[in-house]
Amino acid sequence: MAERPKTKTNSGGLRLVWAQALKPDPTYTLSEWAEEQFYLSGESSAEPGAWRAWPFQRGIMDAFTDPSVETVVLMKSARVGYSKTLCAAIAYHIAEVPAPQLLVQPTVEDAQGFSKDEIAPMLRDVPKLRGLVADPRARDSGNTVTKKNFPGGALSIVGANSPRGFRRLTCRCVWFDEVDGYPPAAGTEGDQIKLGMMRSQTYWNRKIALGSTPTIKGVSRIEAWYERSDQRRYFVPCPECGARHVLRWADIKWPEGEPEAAAWCCPDCGSLVPHSKKRWMVERGEWVATAEGKPMPRVRGFHISALYSYSPNADWGRLAGEFLDAKRAVKQGNVEPLKTFVNTVLGETWEEQGEGVDYGELVGRREDYGGPEAEDAPDGVLVVTAGIDVQGDRLECELVGWGAGEESWSLDYVVVRGDPGRPEVWADLDRHLERRWRSGSMGDLGVAAVGIDTGHQTASVYDWVRPRQPRRVFALKGANVAGKPLVSRPTRVGSGRVSLFTVGTEAAKDLVYARLRVEEAGPGFCHFPSCYDAEYFAQLTAERAVTTWRGGVQVRVYKQTRPRNEALDCRVYALAALRILNVNWKALARRAGVVEAAPAVEAEESSAEYGDREADELAEVARANRPVPASPQPRTVGRRPRGGGGGFVSRY
Ligand SMILES: [Zn+2]
Repeated sequence: MAERPKTKTNSGGLRLVWAQALKPDPTYTLSEWAEEQFYLSGESSAEPGAWRAWPFQRGIMDAFTDPSVETVVLMKSARVGYSKTLCAAIAYHIAEVPAPQLLVQPTVEDAQGFSKDEIAPMLRDVPKLRGLVADPRARDSGNTVTKKNFPGGALSIVGANSPRGFRRLTCRCVWFDEVDGYPPAAGTEGDQIKLGMMRSQTYWNRKIALGSTPTIKGVSRIEAWYERSDQRRYFVPCPECGARHVLRWADIKWPEGEPEAAAWCCPDCGSLVPHSKKRWMVERGEWVATAEGKPMPRVRGFHISALYSYSPNADWGRLAGEFLDAKRAVKQGNVEPLKTFVNTVLGETWEEQGEGVDYGELVGRREDYGGPEAEDAPDGVLVVTAGIDVQGDRLECELVGWGAGEESWSLDYVVVRGDPGRPEVWADLDRHLERRWRSGSMGDLGVAAVGIDTGHQTASVYDWVRPRQPRRVFALKGANVAGKPLVSRPTRVGSGRVSLFTVGTEAAKDLVYARLRVEEAGPGFCHFPSCYDAEYFAQLTAERAVTTWRGGVQVRVYKQTRPRNEALDCRVYALAALRILNVNWKALARRAGVVEAAPAVEAEESSAEYGDREADELAEVARANRPVPASPQPRTVGRRPRGGGGGFVSRY
């Protein structure tokens, strides 16, 4: 209820003057006003006629007229009548308390569509609005699709994709519709919500509303706003025991194969409450703030799902049927329908799944080979590379055998303890890299290429790499940039004597994780020896791809889910070393007498300067009997470091 100004004077005349001067908002709330004045037009509603708010809509609407509320946040499903709620608020601020208003739709087309489908019929059919906005056919009427002038204000309807539409407007009311559909903010224009809010900052009594069906967790703007609010949820009583609960999807149950019989199972008494009792429950419901901690002042947030909806399309049985359809699609590898269900039926954000890897599965498929003592390479290994991660007190190194289609066998994982500033630590590493394996098809195999991280202890790493470059020891630097190729051409660092390759870590991790999900031995499959412990696999699967916003742009990034992830980094560097080596698998497989397999994942174009090496030469590299005589270093890097001599292989 809006407060009336209090006056202590006994003079009736003065009281009247006071009342006029302060012009209080009318004493009814938006829901009361709407039920009295609002009318549903035929083209925008299945049930034209006088409007009756659904019980949960009342609390939401009344927040619009509550003077203690500045911002109304609604995170919602579809089918809960939000467009009508919004239209009622707009109508109220045209007819009852006229105010300049800005309505922001995701795009200019959405803005035009909303204007034609919702606003125009409302202006025509709601008696209180009639005559306030001039006929659009009249010349200079001040009534266009995107601007409606009325006595005491104007309604501007803009698209969030055209921030220019925000300029020069000053509005007391700003309505943001479907904010999760707004495009990422473009260029220097900035966040559309911030821009829109700025248009109202001169009003002490401004009103802001943000409503949307949410999208992806971590990206959803409506969820971020809801979390700042007092987080109201609609609690309804159980008809059997009276306990009050939020209707959750987890409590909707149905007999196997009969989704149409879906009922709500009370978490308190376990009664199955049929759909026919829904209206009884919702009528007796109430909004309860659930925020823990201190919400942002004057921000009132509501969450509502289709489980509460009175729409004939939203009975529980029908929703259960939609859910089962979505689950079936997931089984066929399509998660989109389930995502849509979560967003538009439950009104909840979708948490990206399947972007990480379940480590339990990997632990369970360890094989009997490899380890520190193994002398034989598993059949299929044609080339061995090493990936090294540098830490403050140790070096971690994975030795990986690669076969056709980049099928891989982790051969050993070594931790060299000690400060990388000390030479003996590196000498220890050298000894591990000198290892050799017997191979049925290739004869004697050594480490053909090494990739090492230069992000820490950079000077020590450069010192170690510099003399070893002719032996295909590659200095690597990770770049966490979307769209960067797995390996980019090198730049010269360390007084120009070290070639530093940039590794696109997104691309590399995408590929590593895609391969960890391959379930059958063959191209892309990753083999692990039985001696690896759970910690190794926990590190390997320590990251998850999440979608987030960076500088107004939606990006996908890998986030650590645990503090240690060195095993994953080592694998990325071993893979990068393999890619820089640019193996001609066909030729190598032919040479080894191995039946060639199709690559699991199309290898991207490698930088041309590495060119295809001759098969024989590669076989030599793989066997590591002698150094590659020519072009192991890119020509663009200039002078090849000298000192190859006996070479990588005889040393290692
Ligand atoms: Zn109960």
